[in-house]
This record gives sequence, C-alpha cells and structure tokens, in this order.
Amino acid sequence: MAQMKLNHLSKQYEDGVTAISDFHLHIHDQEFLVLVGPSGCGKSTLLRMIVGLERITSGELIIGEEIVNEVPAKDRDIAMVFQGFALYPYMSVYDNLAFGLKLKKYDPSLISKRVRPIAKLLGLENRLDQKPDALSGGERQRVALGRAIVCEPRVFLMDEPLSNLDAQLRVQMRSEIIQVHRQLKATTIYVTHDQTEAMTMADRIVVMREGVIQQVATPSTIYRHP
Ligand code: ADP
Ligand code: ADP
Repeated sequence: MAQMKLNHLSKQYEDGVTAISDFHLHIHDQEFLVLVGPSGCGKSTLLRMIVGLERITSGELIIGEEIVNEVPAKDRDIAMVFQGFALYPYMSVYDNLAFGLKLKKYDPSLISKRVRPIAKLLGLENRLDQKPDALSGGERQRVALGRAIVCEPRVFLMDEPLSNLDAQLRVQMRSEIIQVHRQLKATTIYVTHDQTEAMTMADRIVVMREGVIQQVATPSTIYRHP
C-alpha cells in the first residue's frame, strides 16, 4: 500500500524516440487508476519505468516516501500482469501461484497459508493440482492474477490483462479484479483499450496521447465533454 508520485517523468529511448514526456501525476494510496490512449502513446513504457524494467531518463518516481529511480525491480515491491500472461506450463496451478513466494524462500507452510485463500478468492481451489493446459482461458487469467498478488505487492500494474478473453468472460473478470483490489488494497494502474472497462473500474481515468497526459478525470465526468 502506497501513494505514488510520478514527478515530471520522461523517457527517451536510445534511438532518440521520446516515449514519455514530462508526465506528472500523483496517485493516491489504494487508488484504482485506469490508463487509456491510442497504441504507441507510451502506456507500456510508463508501466515498465514504474516496475523497473526501463530506465527513467528524467524526473522522479516516488513510492511511499522513497525515490525509487535507482531501486532494482526486484526490490520495488510491485507486481505486474501482462497481456500474454505466460504461466509455467510444467508446474501445477499451486506451484504457479507459489512461484514468487518460493523465490523469496518463504517457508512451505507460510506459502500454503498465502496461496490457499487466494486460490479460494479466485475460484481455483479445485484446480491446484492441475497444469495450466487443463484450464479454461478465464482460469488461466485468474492464475496469472493470483501469481502476481500472492506476494502482496504495494503496487499492482496491469497491462490489458483481459484483452485475450471473450466478451462474456471480460465482464466477469472485471468485477473479480475489483473484488481482488478491495481485498488487496494495492495502489493499481490498469491499462485498457476498452472504454467500458475504464468507466466501470476506475477511480480516475488518465487519457494519454503521444507520451503526455491529455486528461485526468473521474469516470462520471470524463466522457461528457469529448
Ligand atoms: P503503448 O503501450 O501505448 O502502445 P509504448 O510504450 O509501447 O506505447 O510505445 C511508446 C513509443 O515508444 C512508441 O513510439 C514506440 O514505438 C516507442 N518504443 C517502445 N519501446 C521501444 C524501444 N524498446 N525502443 C525504442 N522505441 C520504443
Ligand atoms: P513472472 O512470471 O514473474 O512474470 P517471468 O515469466 O519473467 O516472471 O519468469 C521468472 C523466472 O522464471 C525467469 O527467470 C524465467 O526464466 C523463469 N521461468 C520462465 N518460464 C519458466 C518455466 N516454464 N518453468 C520454470 N521457470 C520458468
């Protein structure tokens, strides 16, 4: 749990492309922020800078009270779920969920105490011994979510996590993600192309264009004045 300050962040890639330009936004503790904007406007770059996969060219990233620009990704306490969520195909659902905790060398009994409630929350308690191949698309997406949140991150980033699912499942997963958010209370940035997702899930919506913020507003105000 943490507030996040994105203070005048910029990103210039080595080839000279400016992907993010003077991006300035403060995100509240436990906020669910939705980021929208056309392809190529810099959404993924921004998430990768926050998670620590991409160097920040200039500006300051503050999580909690700490400037994290130089903090390695593994020490940032941030979880990220991508579009093409890759599960470990040779591991059971349980081992997929437990993966991050095993990396942290948690005790097996503690791992079990963490994994089982999350499996229950996501309706996976009867799937724990199965391999990802045996699951439906929605179940696989839930494993990807569970694997990310099992470490109880203070910040949770999602980059179009539902775009591979069919329409009906997307609607269902929307409310599951909100339910998970209410329990987890991680400060969240959620990237989507789907206007309905943005409208129904967001505390605030940020509209990006060509590396800059075009608009910040709540769902009830944002699409009234297009
Ligand atoms: P979005 O996620 O909104 O589609 P991206 O962050 O992927 O946008 O891309 C923003 C801009 O940065 C685009 O012009 C893209 O071509 C460029 N870009 C993305 N990744 C790289 C990279 N590794 N090297 C150079 N340019 C990149
Ligand atoms: P995350 O799943 O947390 O997003 P990665 O997919 O990047 O992270 O993988 C984390 C680590 O697990 C990497 O070192 C990667 O090489 C390793 N890994 C990836 N796929 C498998 C797999 N099928 N079985 C075991 N380890 C894997």
